[in-house]
Amino acid sequence: MSKPVVAIVGRPNVGKSTLFNKLVGERISIVDDTPGVTRDRIYGDVDWNGRAALLIDTGGIEPFSDDVILSQMREQAQLAIDTADVIIMVTDVRSGLVATDEEVAHMLIRSNKPLVLCVNKCDSIGDPPPEFYEFYKLPIEPIAVSSVHGHGTGDLLDAVFRELESYTEEEADPEVISVAVIGRPNVGKSSLINKITGENRCIVSDIAGTTRDSIDTMIENKHGTFNFIDTAGMRRKSKVTDQIERYSILRAKMAIERCDVCVIMLDAETGITEQDTKVAGLALEAGKACIIAVNKWDAIDKDNSTMPNFRKDIERDFAFMSYAPAVFISAKTGQRLDNLFENIVHVTNTSAMRITTGLLNDVLATATARVQPPTDKGRRLKIFYMTQVSVKPPTFIFFCNDAELFHFSYQRYLENRLREAFDFSGTPIRFIIRERN
Ligand code: GDP
Ligand code: GDP
Repeated sequence: MSKPVVAIVGRPNVGKSTLFNKLVGERISIVDDTPGVTRDRIYGDVDWNGRAALLIDTGGIEPFSDDVILSQMREQAQLAIDTADVIIMVTDVRSGLVATDEEVAHMLIRSNKPLVLCVNKCDSIGDPPPEFYEFYKLPIEPIAVSSVHGHGTGDLLDAVFRELESYTEEEADPEVISVAVIGRPNVGKSSLINKITGENRCIVSDIAGTTRDSIDTMIENKHGTFNFIDTAGMRRKSKVTDQIERYSILRAKMAIERCDVCVIMLDAETGITEQDTKVAGLALEAGKACIIAVNKWDAIDKDNSTMPNFRKDIERDFAFMSYAPAVFISAKTGQRLDNLFENIVHVTNTSAMRITTGLLNDVLATATARVQPPTDKGRRLKIFYMTQVSVKPPTFIFFCNDAELFHFSYQRYLENRLREAFDFSGTPIRFIIRERN
């Protein structure tokens, strides 16, 4: 289910973004019509000889001074150590092996994380320039690459996937619900985890097959067994303001990839911000079941209209996931955490629900009788039948006469009818349209 993660680190201007774009190609990982999602390409899919990985660019360092660069490099390297299965360290043959490179390389080597050394800007075909040999000072084999022209990138990917040979996907225990608590910094994610671990039985989880240093927290209570993903990354905070958003998005992305349910946490004190909707967009893009948890409910002055008003704000700003239930909690006092767990269990079930083809087609028949399918240039959409093809998220395939006629608005209409007929609260649902004559 979850792909291995490959992180790119390196000093400013060595060519990290260029390499990232070369490896990911033109595919955009972010669904274009997902509202609120950042257009920044900080992660993307790489495919190489039938194998796949998620590539992340930890980059974005502002070159102020050498001191600042080094401390930012350390942070960037730590992020890679926390989240990646393999790290690509990018250097620049034109500047040779500089002190910062050596420092960071040793930090990465100490982490025991599989590491691949890319010496970039080796543009000429044939023997690499003499400066290339300086990099043999490091205890890992350098690979000559030109990110601009693309040569050497095959050798680089060979090396990356060689390191991933022992990578095995995590076996998901069907009895355990994996939860990702996501949200911008300071909304109270770690406070929630601390509260939960303080009040429930914790089980030490030993995750086999992953080389990531993320620490999951497994707890058990009357609602079931829950694995809270990547709580270590949550506690570690970036000191560099420019990097905070990038880091929180990357961490959220990593956690979302592995979860059954996302708890999207908002801060009742500050209200909803654009960054909150971006984070929620990541959950939508991944097709995961979601709950919106409005935290710090203890901290605000309330009257009878406070909660309805906040609900209205959520309806407006999270219209793209109107299916997500909202709970108003306090990580500090523990208020409504029971309710949060009930919702987590519920949306896990709705996202795994299977509806029989018979029932689906009853709903479809009623819906198409009530509002006729659209016509265009004298042709009317005919939907022959529908069936569910998968779960998490529930995915339905429609067979029709002409996919072009199956407008988005009619899909939206049918989605609403399905949601009326069946309880799909908390889960996105997906449609696949197929033509058949
Ligand atoms: P980043 O700061 O590490 O992400 O670096 P960029 O990808 O933005 O690249 C910095 C500069 O180096 C840009 O002007 C790139 O065009 C250039 N560059 C990147 N890769 C190569 C390469 O393989 N060869 C050459 N000649 N220039 C490159
Ligand atoms: P994170 O960055 O999302 O992990 O946020 P933290 O858990 O570190 O919390 C940020 C700040 O909000 C801390 O000062 C917490 O004490 C405070 N905080 C977290 N949850 C609550 C809450 O439910 N109520 C109140 N009043 N403060 C909270």
